[in-house]
Amino acid sequence: MPLEQYRKKRNFQKTTEPAGGAEPNPSRKRTKLPRFVVQEHHATSLHWDFRLERDGVLVSWAVPKGIPPDPKRNNLAVHVEDHPLNYIDFAGEIPEGNYGAGGVSIWDQGTYEVVKWSDREVMVDLHGERVEGRYVLFQTNGKNWMIHRMDPPQDAGREPMPERLEPMQAKLSKGLPRDQQGYGFEFKWDGIRALAYISGGRLRLSSRSLEDITNRYPELRELGGTVGARELILDGEIIAVAEGGRPSFERLQGRMGLTSEADIRRKMKEIPVGYVIFDLLYLDGHATLEVPYADRRRLLEELKLKGRYWQTPPYTPGEGTTTLEASKQLGLEGVMAKRLDSGYQPGRRSDAWLKIKNHQGQELVIGGWLPGEGGRSGRIGALLVGYYQDGKLVYAGKVGTGFTERMLDRLQALLAPLRRATSPFEGGVAPPRKAIFTEPRLVGEFEFSEWTASGQLRQPSFKGLREDKDPRSVVRETPP
Ligand code: MN
Repeated sequence: MPLEQYRKKRNFQKTTEPAGGAEPNPSRKRTKLPRFVVQEHHATSLHWDFRLERDGVLVSWAVPKGIPPDPKRNNLAVHVEDHPLNYIDFAGEIPEGNYGAGGVSIWDQGTYEVVKWSDREVMVDLHGERVEGRYVLFQTNGKNWMIHRMDPPQDAGREPMPERLEPMQAKLSKGLPRDQQGYGFEFKWDGIRALAYISGGRLRLSSRSLEDITNRYPELRELGGTVGARELILDGEIIAVAEGGRPSFERLQGRMGLTSEADIRRKMKEIPVGYVIFDLLYLDGHATLEVPYADRRRLLEELKLKGRYWQTPPYTPGEGTTTLEASKQLGLEGVMAKRLDSGYQPGRRSDAWLKIKNHQGQELVIGGWLPGEGGRSGRIGALLVGYYQDGKLVYAGKVGTGFTERMLDRLQALLAPLRRATSPFEGGVAPPRKAIFTEPRLVGEFEFSEWTASGQLRQPSFKGLREDKDPRSVVRETPP
């Protein structure tokens, strides 16, 4: 019985989908070419339903990654039950609780010609509004088929999506560039850099060191679904927001190191993350690396990527002074100045991008601690920090603020086994007498107003641990 399976799975009192009449659609004349449809279906898992009109029904496949635009890629196509002919125009919301609940929209439709049709192989020429060309579907194992484009890509200039791009980096600048008109300005976000690769509705997040960090941030997964069939590489920063709405690197640390799914799920509620998107490196078959920054930003803004866990804050061309002032008022780290006419240089620290910080900050090595007084006696009152110069650890001062109670506990636990009798510091000003020294293994991120003439930090505060950093690589960023 045609459509028996289709009807069994659905309750037509409840779903918005058509039940399908017994008769083939009478309005269609036999002389016309048969029709096809591709429906984008935001069910539990996003997929595209590919349906071909044949013998009074729609022969159907669910294609998780969509219709491949390029013959280099075969996509899985799961053969599913025949659908009624009038399903070809169906779009709308399948209500919760029903089979395939979620939004359905028509991604493409048109006519097709059969080149070959057997039980195991279907070859067709599609004439759609989006898709034009020859495709073959072939059975690989039971319900599992593959869909392959046989023609060259429709877009003759199509470039495959790059798989491993390193993010472009900025040079530290003491102030705003003189020629503000030549730059676009963005807030500087205090989080971790991540590139987002989106294809076939699936998101992959890659860190600065090209590590796949997708599974660590499940709240960002749906960004892939939102993008649908478009193909993008985005550049941005993953942040965690502290009370008061300010991004906090320290807070983000509660998420960064987690890898077990259960830990991540639990911590997500307490420390949700957001993705702040600020650049576009690939769009629908074309790298945009050589497109000037101002035009990349325009393309990015046209994508309107805004959701609960991601956003695309605007940039301000020419307005460095006001952007920097606003960043101070908002308590942000600083601003980025990006040359409006500059291309994207993956992995390069280029002076086309400048970072201007409201506070100085850098990584420093922890070489001991000073016990606190009063309520903090016996516990950490301040950390003793330094940096390497000519192979020696130079003492840079003590840091007694910026810790949460939880972080102090953590530091206490991490430093206890590193304790040693002698000072690891060999240069600079002498550390305080009551110091308790440790092996110089831990690296922290610190903020301060300036370096004093004697090479000490002024008004330093602790920002967080940098467990990803090698202590031997820590040097003074702004030399005296
Ligand atoms: Mn479906």
